[in-house]
Amino acid sequence: MKKILFLFVLLANYLSFSQSPYTLPQLKYTYAALEPSIDSTTMIIHHTKHHQAYVNNLNKAIAGTKLESLPLEELLLNATLIPDAVRNNAGGHYNHSLFWEILTPKKDTKPSLELFKAIETNFKNIDSLKKLMNQAASTRFGSGWAWLILTPDKKLAVTSTANQDNPIMDVASVRGIPLIGIDVWEHAYYLKYQNKRTDYLGAIWNLIDWETVSLKYMNALSNPLLEKIEKDNWKELKDFYKIIIETCHPLEENNFGPIRELSGELYLKALILKKSTIPTSLKHEKTKLALEKMLILSKEIHAMVEKNEKEEHIRKKMEELHTTFHEVQAYCMH
Ligand code: MN
Repeated sequence: MKKILFLFVLLANYLSFSQSPYTLPQLKYTYAALEPSIDSTTMIIHHTKHHQAYVNNLNKAIAGTKLESLPLEELLLNATLIPDAVRNNAGGHYNHSLFWEILTPKKDTKPSLELFKAIETNFKNIDSLKKLMNQAASTRFGSGWAWLILTPDKKLAVTSTANQDNPIMDVASVRGIPLIGIDVWEHAYYLKYQNKRTDYLGAIWNLIDWETVSLKYMNALSNPLLEKIEKDNWKELKDFYKIIIETCHPLEENNFGPIRELSGELYLKALILKKSTIPTSLKHEKTKLALEKMLILSKEIHAMVEKNEKEEHIRKKMEELHTTFHEVQAYCMH
């Protein structure tokens, strides 16, 4: 009996382990293949230790939470709403997976005609793109990444982020889908280049796989994520969401403390939201009407709290506000 129990525990462990949503991706080249630009020891440590740690810690951070069932991109889009451990490790996993993909030992890969034209339109030529990227990478203080991205208005842009953040995240100042990401953490270059980040940046361009980057560009142009980022850029809606979470959700446990304390702020945020610029793809009558309704409801709720009205009345209004908010949010989902 004991033996069976033991086997069962072993099996359960194995199953829960194998169900961890994220795994370390295989590289399409050997660790030594990128020499001399990136040495083999750096590659081994970077892939099997650093990236593996992001994968493990991401799985650990989301285990048993609602975040477990969300796609990686949704975690990134909502970086301000998730715990720091999830943000850092989800970013770490996404960023490194992209990094391995866009590197190659193949020499002289070329961008597609489409990407080439886009680079010409946005940066004049590849050399000035490289210069901008290296500038972004070398001026990034401390650890972080330099990026070439496709923005929601379908333009190319160069940007950089700190730590393991990336341009999909709502914390990024310039947002879009990453096409090239250059890791400028010291762990990416220190063994070979020590403090000479610029030398590493000079060498990395020997390894960029322009065929993969071109494919990424084509896919990004029609990726629904691009429109999601545009809608998610509506900061005032996201701010309103935060206060909805803070005030509405406690009502489920009959906790009226937060709404009593924050009703003024709720009203103010509704006012700011009403006056904000609605993203182009959401500019229709339904959205406008819903924002107006949310403002009226928030004002009424604030007045009810001030007058110390019955909690059941406040709850009813809050429920109405919650539903209206989710209507606007639902427009944002398609
Ligand atoms: Mn790294």
